[in-house]
Amino acid sequence: MERLQKVMAHAGIASRRKCEEIISQGRVTVNGQTVTELGFKVKQSDKIEVDQVPIYLEEPRYFLFYKPRNVISAVSDDKGRPVVLDYFKHIDQRIYPIGRLDFDTTGLLLLTNDGEFANQLMHPRYQVDKVYVAKLDKILDKEALRKLERGIIIDGKKTSKARAKVLDTNLEKKMSVVQLTIHEGWNHQVKKMFEAVGAHVVKLKREKFGPLNLGKMQPGEYRELLPNEVTELK
Ligand code: URA
Repeated sequence: MERLQKVMAHAGIASRRKCEEIISQGRVTVNGQTVTELGFKVKQSDKIEVDQVPIYLEEPRYFLFYKPRNVISAVSDDKGRPVVLDYFKHIDQRIYPIGRLDFDTTGLLLLTNDGEFANQLMHPRYQVDKVYVAKLDKILDKEALRKLERGIIIDGKKTSKARAKVLDTNLEKKMSVVQLTIHEGWNHQVKKMFEAVGAHVVKLKREKFGPLNLGKMQPGEYRELLPNEVTELK
């Protein structure tokens, strides 16, 4: 038995607070009866409707996926390009990626059917370290690295403090590999940060998301998160 607002939030209706409002507004029925009581408990077999639209209660699932290159972080694609869900065909629940990695970016991507969990992790307030490794068409000098670390303006916003570490340099080819640890998850953030200091990202991989890493996984592989890993992310 779970509280109605929790179940609704899990189903991705809205945040738990917003779901409480929706309940108070008399927009929710359980087995055909309007429920306005916030502590109301429901079970798996109950039929819940919000504004006469049924919501589906599924077992929550949480996956860590090693996204390969040239795969879209989406459930489907109208142009028929490969999407991350192609790798989860035999999973019964309707899971979806939490945030996105670019088409050409590889690495750690989380998927779930728990709407509340996904909303939390995508909220701007939620800022765990995300570690990226970028291959650049340039060797960055100390000043550029400092700028990245101090925070840099992209799209009119300043990034928070980051960590930049040079992992490799190829003087002959004038290329380098830099590990960048950031806190936000803005669109194309890493590529834009490097562009802002004059370097183009040739290859990008996300190696860590908060406490999670890819371990020995290979591109295209996934594993279910352990219950303690889910708790730690919340
Ligand atoms: N930053 C980017 O530029 N691309 C990604 O895929 C992820 C972070």
